[in-house]
Amino acid sequence: MAKIPINIATGSLQKEEIIVGIDLGTTNSLVSIIHPDSKQAVALKEHDGSSLVPSVIYFDDKGNVTVGEAALRYLISAPQQTIFSAKRLMGKSYHDVKDKSVFYGYKIIDDNSENLVKVQVAGKFYSPIELSAFILKELKQRAEHILKTPVTRAVITVPAYFNDAQRNGTRDAGKLAGLDVLRIINEPTAASLAYGIGLKTNEDKTIAVYDLGGGTFDVSILSITDAVFDVLSTNGNTYLGGDDMDNAIVQYWLQKNQLNADQEPGKSYRKSLRIKAEEAKKHLSQNEQFTANDPNLDLLITQKEFNALIQPLVDETITCCQNALKDAGLTAKDIDAVVMVGGSTRVPLVKNSVSEFFGKPVNDSLNPDEVVSLGAAIQADVLAGNNKDILLLDITPLSLGIETAGGLMDVLIPRNSKIPSKAARQYTTQVDGQSSMRISVYQGERDLVNDNRKLAEFNLKGIPAMPAGLAKIEISFTINADGILNVTAKELRSQVEQSIEIKPQYGITDAEVEKMLLDSITHAQEDIANRALAEAKTEGEQLLKTTERFLQKNVSQLTALELKNTAEAMQALQLSLSLNDKNLVHTKIEELNNISKPYAERIMDNALSSAMKGKSIA
Ligand code: ADP
Ligand code: MG
Repeated sequence: MAKIPINIATGSLQKEEIIVGIDLGTTNSLVSIIHPDSKQAVALKEHDGSSLVPSVIYFDDKGNVTVGEAALRYLISAPQQTIFSAKRLMGKSYHDVKDKSVFYGYKIIDDNSENLVKVQVAGKFYSPIELSAFILKELKQRAEHILKTPVTRAVITVPAYFNDAQRNGTRDAGKLAGLDVLRIINEPTAASLAYGIGLKTNEDKTIAVYDLGGGTFDVSILSITDAVFDVLSTNGNTYLGGDDMDNAIVQYWLQKNQLNADQEPGKSYRKSLRIKAEEAKKHLSQNEQFTANDPNLDLLITQKEFNALIQPLVDETITCCQNALKDAGLTAKDIDAVVMVGGSTRVPLVKNSVSEFFGKPVNDSLNPDEVVSLGAAIQADVLAGNNKDILLLDITPLSLGIETAGGLMDVLIPRNSKIPSKAARQYTTQVDGQSSMRISVYQGERDLVNDNRKLAEFNLKGIPAMPAGLAKIEISFTINADGILNVTAKELRSQVEQSIEIKPQYGITDAEVEKMLLDSITHAQEDIANRALAEAKTEGEQLLKTTERFLQKNVSQLTALELKNTAEAMQALQLSLSLNDKNLVHTKIEELNNISKPYAERIMDNALSSAMKGKSIA
């Protein structure tokens, strides 16, 4: 089984083409490559010397998109049209993020459901995949501008704690941006590679990667054996980072100048104080004190004062390190190396505290903003086969998955996964009393199974009768060292089970594989649109079903007007399902939800209070 590099621009095999490493960050993103002359990893820089691209997207009134530095200023002037931290939304449902929705200045669709979140900007709906794709597209264009050559292949990094859906989402975002994503790798793994740890076989190490960024903190404990990385544990806080340090400085200055909440300067003033605070923080990473000329305020702050402000924050990260070690079943002594990642690790107190906790000096010689993307570039180089010292393991040339609702491909084992490999995911029934389920196995990179290659199909029979959504059916894919795929479906309550063996590579030539890869890139735009439409339709159909069920049960408790409005909204949604317009379907879903929410809540409250009444104490 071979790895097949293709040049998307020419459609031919081209080993020479550069493969980039991309750190798609919450706050900042950037691209690195292995320099063709020095063979060293370097971050790509614009003429102004900056390698970081702020992960911010601004949509103007006409629907034009601006990404990066130029989008930053709109965070203040047009917060509803300026998306930041899209990475936090990847693979999340509204339910997952609703507690933090005030954090975002833009509109996150509140459809009160388990469905994946969408962001609404001026009547258009964007998934986190599409948002990430805008950032990746900008990075791709920048790289092409700097390198003066097409860039079509990339390795992209994700946090170690990202689940399957989040990884697949990132992969899709790459595809949508016109990139052939050779592999998704963990950020701590990349950081480790950048320091040359884990490149050689015959190396056996346990390391800790401490990553303190702008708004997130995570620590990972990795074990490395013969260049294979294993995540032993991860810990952290997705709402803790450099931004909190800036806030602490603002608070300190307000207090120092005796401004209480009532007299506090206006909002925009606060924002400008925040910008000064970040400047102060960075200055204090190398100097004993900071001050700024301000006619009205005393903005002096010393490193000592700053350290006192952020001590609780640093302590919290150390507690996370403790917990990560505990979960890995290790103590600080077992850690061979500590790698520092993220702009906020430049703060001396952070560095010293981490070093003290692990009882050894930390690896901090590389630029902490760049280290993840540098490692991604090193991994890319290995995948390209340029690094002859490193052995390439057998990999799957095409993704393997099953068909799900709407004829969509659900990938269980992504292409370029190492062999042997294993993956499992749970599914459920769609109809009440459903007693069998058809499992169709496909191979390929397209979003609709019809465009992929069908490998096999079988029926899981004997599922015990239960309401839709209750059955737990686990589908597992196992590829053994010989490349044979075993697919098993098992209903977890009753343990009924069925399986099949397939040779995915049987009867397919390298040329066909190459064509399938090429097709997936040239059709990415329409594929993602098709997927989004199919998902919207499935969501709409489900909502119609549940609303109907709800009405049947509670019709007597609705007013005539509520009934009329609901019927109209249902009809409108039903109609939208037959038109191929994703935004329209989402709008109609939102309208129906807005109509049903007040009475649904009222009826729930009534049911609750009558249940309480029914309970007698005697
Ligand atoms: P992310 O991984 O979330 O995209 P980064 O690793 O780029 O974030 O880190 C961004 C954070 O690093 C910001 O809060 C920024 O203020 C902080 N930072 C950058 N340089 C310094 C410095 N010299 N001293 C302290 N903090 C810094
Ligand atoms: Mg980062």
